[in-house]
Amino acid sequence: MELNEQAAITSGSAFWSTTAAGDVPAITLTDGPHGVRLQVADADDILAGQPATCFPPAVASGSTWDPELLRRMGEALAQECRAMGVHVLLGPGINLKRTPLGGRNFEYFSEDPLVAGVLATAWVQGIQSGGVGASLKHFAVNSQETDRMRVSADVDERTLRELYLRAFQRVVTQAQPWTVMCAYNRINGVYASQNHFLLTEVLRDEWGFEGLVMSDWGAVVDRVEAVRAGLDLTMPGPDDSGDRELIAAVRDGRLPADTLATSAGRVEALVGKALGAARTDYDADAHHALAREIAARGIVLLKNEGAVLPLNPAQTIAVIGESARTPRYQGGGSSQITPTRLDDALSALEAAAPGRIRFSADDAEIARDADVAVVFAATANETEGADRESLDLPAAELARISRVAAANPRTVVVLSNGAVVRTTPWEASVAGVVEGWLLGQAGGSALADVLFGAVNPSGRLTETIPLRLQDHPSYLDFPGEAGHVRYGEGIHVGYRGFDAREQEVAYPFGFGLSYTTFSYGQAAATVTPGGIEISLDVTNTGDRDGREVVQAYVSLGSSRVSRAPRELKAFANVEIKAGETVAVKMHIDRADLAYWEIRLNRWVVEAGTYEIAVGSSSRDLHTTATVEIAGDEARIPLTPESTIAEWLSDPRGAEILGDVFAKMAAEASGGMAGALTADPAMMQMAAGFPLTRLTMFIPGSLFTPEALQELADAANN
Ligand code: BGC
Repeated sequence: MELNEQAAITSGSAFWSTTAAGDVPAITLTDGPHGVRLQVADADDILAGQPATCFPPAVASGSTWDPELLRRMGEALAQECRAMGVHVLLGPGINLKRTPLGGRNFEYFSEDPLVAGVLATAWVQGIQSGGVGASLKHFAVNSQETDRMRVSADVDERTLRELYLRAFQRVVTQAQPWTVMCAYNRINGVYASQNHFLLTEVLRDEWGFEGLVMSDWGAVVDRVEAVRAGLDLTMPGPDDSGDRELIAAVRDGRLPADTLATSAGRVEALVGKALGAARTDYDADAHHALAREIAARGIVLLKNEGAVLPLNPAQTIAVIGESARTPRYQGGGSSQITPTRLDDALSALEAAAPGRIRFSADDAEIARDADVAVVFAATANETEGADRESLDLPAAELARISRVAAANPRTVVVLSNGAVVRTTPWEASVAGVVEGWLLGQAGGSALADVLFGAVNPSGRLTETIPLRLQDHPSYLDFPGEAGHVRYGEGIHVGYRGFDAREQEVAYPFGFGLSYTTFSYGQAAATVTPGGIEISLDVTNTGDRDGREVVQAYVSLGSSRVSRAPRELKAFANVEIKAGETVAVKMHIDRADLAYWEIRLNRWVVEAGTYEIAVGSSSRDLHTTATVEIAGDEARIPLTPESTIAEWLSDPRGAEILGDVFAKMAAEASGGMAGALTADPAMMQMAAGFPLTRLTMFIPGSLFTPEALQELADAANN
């Protein structure tokens, strides 16, 4: 490829297509993630999509905790892409839900990187098995919409590695997405689009990413810097001035010719892969049915007092609230899909209980003489581009809930929301709460399936519902100011932070009820070279078939670093027939036990007694097992700047420094060294002194810079 062709092919030719160059044709990229939004030809509105199945957004599909469902959704999306001539679908979005106010939380899976990583891996494997590429986004640390094009997410490296990059690492290493999309924001001051550390050192050199990195739409600030950092494709396009800058930079030696040629080669390779899949058709009815299945499985039953649910079709049922008739089923922005059809809950309820449903959008009085009242409540539009301002439902919705609850004690609230809302103000006044998220085009039918019990609910929260916003770990450091947002809670994101501060929550991470009940046998855990194998029996003790999401949380009581009290490390989604027992097996990779040791710049599995607590949520832990884990070799080298305490806590260092002190103490006066060894209080006071600072207190040849370096060399050899 000629230089000008290389420059041209590394940016788009239009909003949704790459550039053809030489004998390399253009391909089509489009959003994503929960449907195919191929822009209607010639429409001015870039968000106007041709009809396609609107599957449940990630907030709902994630709540299934079922990678198999996500894989099937990926396969179905691939078919729709192929039917519409789309080669790369722009998803999945796997940024962590750092704050419940995140405007795009509905597009993301979880506050926990294991859940996000496992589900997104299955999604990517599903779509790519159909010959269509995924675009894993937004890399990285894109957890808010406020000032999203510029804000610097300031995050320490341990938190970055263990939380914000962890899901990306899992998906890249296990599913090799064809493409990764960089984020808009800066990370520790450097734009994601020109972040050599992220795009090259971490993504390619450490994780072995083989695909192409594209920009988010409009994320590139300086094209030459972006290509130098490892960004291959700038979107959208055309970008003539950027092309000219690239050519000039290669000609005058500012940008190595190889760097641009490599990026152009990656575009060519992507096109080669993408054109392998022939056009097919898809079965819109089957996809609607799949959307319904996933939606029903994503619904989370939060409260069910007096077994108010499932509804009985013989009862009279008052249905109140506009969102029963006009569903809120997806969020705003680039992920918006034009559905092939749209189910509303009211029609689905009427079909399930003909003649039994009384409906009104704002009249609570119909609840009074009904056997049960179902009130639908929705958030206002949640959208890309703006964070939410409040955790509360809109005032009108709150007022409606309280009117209906006052009219009928057997009231069930059905929520439609893209991210968690505060339930505290009203939940005590109602008998049932159904978290209905944004469920996609078949959500109305899915709600009826769960409300009437055709589907036994098995969705689980992938994010904590706090009692109030002020309790949230992110509260004091969101959304930042003056171009920076400080990730002050560090590794204590979501439930990790609530648990560390032993704070009460409304509903914990992992929570969700069923119409049946489960009991847990004793967990057993064994260590293998690959990690930990966990096994236990779980019994369905009720009279309905159901599904349980069995969750394994790991703790290490004494650690050299600060840790969350417990972290999710494995889960299993199991179907258990009424009265039956299933042997559940879970695996934890040894690598998933590691923390990021900043002093060594690598992952370290610490030796110790690890407790594995297994249960049905992060706070309903039914059985524990412990294992002894042998640690990685992870000695932190001593330097002259290491403190006395650090020297003494290292066996070899203690020996060497002990000899030095003994020698000095034996000298006629003893001096400072003598006092240190003789007086524990003195030692306690001086323990934090780096050895270099002792020079001022201990004159003589033993504490010169050269002598200290020799001590360090001796200790480290
Ligand atoms: C969004 C991406 C999306 C892209 C293309 C951007 O505004 O952040 O998620 O894929 O637009 O529509």
